[in-house]
Amino acid sequence: MSDIDIPSLPPELEWDIPELAPLARTATLLLNVPDTPGEPTPADSSIGGPLLWPADEPWPYCDLPNHDAAWPHKSPPDHPVPTVAAVQLYAHDVPELPFPEGTDVLQIIWCALLHEEPDEYAPLPRMYWRNAERVRAAGVLDDVPAPAEGEYDEDFVPTPRRVRPTKAREYPNQDLPREITDAIWPRVEALEARHDTYYTEWCALQTKVGGYPAWCQPPNWPDCEKSHRMEHLLSVTGEEDMMMGDCGGMYFFVCPECTTGTEMPYAFRYDCH
Ligand SMILES: [Zn+2]
Ligand SMILES: [Zn+2]
Repeated sequence: MSDIDIPSLPPELEWDIPELAPLARTATLLLNVPDTPGEPTPADSSIGGPLLWPADEPWPYCDLPNHDAAWPHKSPPDHPVPTVAAVQLYAHDVPELPFPEGTDVLQIIWCALLHEEPDEYAPLPRMYWRNAERVRAAGVLDDVPAPAEGEYDEDFVPTPRRVRPTKAREYPNQDLPREITDAIWPRVEALEARHDTYYTEWCALQTKVGGYPAWCQPPNWPDCEKSHRMEHLLSVTGEEDMMMGDCGGMYFFVCPECTTGTEMPYAFRYDCH
C-alpha cells in the first residue's frame, strides 16, 4: 500500500492539469484514531492530550491583561489563567519535523482565551522542543492545572485525541498563484463535476504537519527577525468540538535556519470564517 493516501484525489488530476504538478506538496495529516480505547497519555502524540512536561518547570499561565471575556461571561478574568495543551508530537511518529539537535518531542500550548494583542483576537500559543528521555529521567509533571470556568473559551480547547500521522499529496488552496488559477479553473471544474468533489478536497484543509497552511483566508506568511521567509510547521484546524471561531485554524511557522540550541524562532497566524 502506498503511503500517499487521499481517497478523493482524481487519478488523472496532474494529467489534466499539469500546472499543479510542480505545486504539489506532501503533508502529514494528523488523523483521528477513533478505535483506540482510553485517553491519550503523555507518552502519546496527540491533539489536546496530556504533555510530557518536566516536573521542575511550572505549567505556563497567561498573564496578559487584554483578554477578551469568554462567552457567556461579561468580563475577562483579572488574574493569570492556565494555558491548555494543544499539540504533542514525537519524533518516532512524525520524524519529518525539524527537531533541533538532541530533541525528539514538539509541544504547543496556548491560552484558550482571545487576546486583543499581539495578534488580533487569537489564542496565544507557545512552542517547546524537548528531549523525552531527559524529561522522563527528571520527572513528569502530573498535576497540570486546568482553566476554570470563565478562564477559557471552549472554541479553543481541543478534545484530547491520539493522532495517526498519514502522508498525503496535496495542492495549494489560498496559496494557489493567481496567474495559474484563471488558466486552470475550467479544467478544475470539469474534474470536480466528473468526480463529484471540490478542489478544496485536494488541499488537505485540516490538522496536519507540513504541506501548505490550511488557511481559510488569504495567505499571510511570516518572516523571521532576519527576514527569512518562515516555513509552515503545522496547522491545527477547527473540529466538531473545537470550532476555533467557526472552523478557522491556528497555523505555525518556524525558521530552522535561525535555530540556536533547542530554540527555534516561531510565529503563528490565526484565521476564521
Ligand atoms: Zn491569555
Ligand atoms: Zn531566520
